[in-house]
Amino acid sequence: MIRWSTLRWIGIVLAISALTVGAFYWSSLAPSGDSRSAASRTTAPREANRTDHDSPTPTSGAGHPLGRPAPLPPGADQMKAGRDFEFLTIQANDPSTPVTYDPCRPIHYVVNDRTALPGSRQVLRDAIQQVSTATGLVFVDDGATNEVPVIKRELFQPQRYGDRWAPVLLAWSDEAELSILTPDSFGSGGSYAVTSPTRSRRVYVTGEVAFNGPTIAADLATFPAEQRTARLRAILMHYVGHIVGLTHTNDIKNILYHGHDGRATEWAVGDLAGLNAVGSGPCEPPM
Ligand SMILES: [Zn+2]
Repeated sequence: MIRWSTLRWIGIVLAISALTVGAFYWSSLAPSGDSRSAASRTTAPREANRTDHDSPTPTSGAGHPLGRPAPLPPGADQMKAGRDFEFLTIQANDPSTPVTYDPCRPIHYVVNDRTALPGSRQVLRDAIQQVSTATGLVFVDDGATNEVPVIKRELFQPQRYGDRWAPVLLAWSDEAELSILTPDSFGSGGSYAVTSPTRSRRVYVTGEVAFNGPTIAADLATFPAEQRTARLRAILMHYVGHIVGLTHTNDIKNILYHGHDGRATEWAVGDLAGLNAVGSGPCEPPM
């Protein structure tokens, strides 16, 4: 039981965001400090300027959302009103409006399996499908990568991924590779936004998650074998929830709970309300 409590994970949400000013002058929001405190919430990220970015040739989305968020369950409207979910990033000029992905474009992702658990690839697909169903956002698996997670990822990597925004990176990592992972954390993750060509709002274009493979494996090993897949799926759902723009809540029923450890294995209504909201963003012009 001691080990259990020490492994109770508290994640570090990389509330990384970027915005363009003028001719692609980038700012990046550094990791927001989730702590071990039960009262922790994502605090306003610190800002750090970056000027080392380029961007792909603008392309158009489909012109209509590729999917629709799942209908909200009974009670979720009240949750929405009460905000039993938290957005990872909000629009600077409108605190009630989240930064979202463009629902008219698929979210491409790649996977680095270096420290992945055996069989976890299908569990990851299942977790992504759970997020896709709840948000209406469409994900496309672009296969394997050897790109490693970093604190400030390059959003445009034409030599690796071609003339497009880099796909979301889902990397099985460890604390030796990424210093923000700690021995008792399951991972960290978030998404990066740029200013839409309308200049009025920001939109996510890519993101990254680093899963702490050894810590997750050690934790799952403390549970009966028949529980491990569901717990792993829930842990991965938590992180894909960060990718689409949700951060932690204080409600233990939520998969986005700040101390979520795989115990809650299905979305709570607060999760679903948040996922519905971040799946309901507007289509964006070519970008
Ligand atoms: Zn988290």
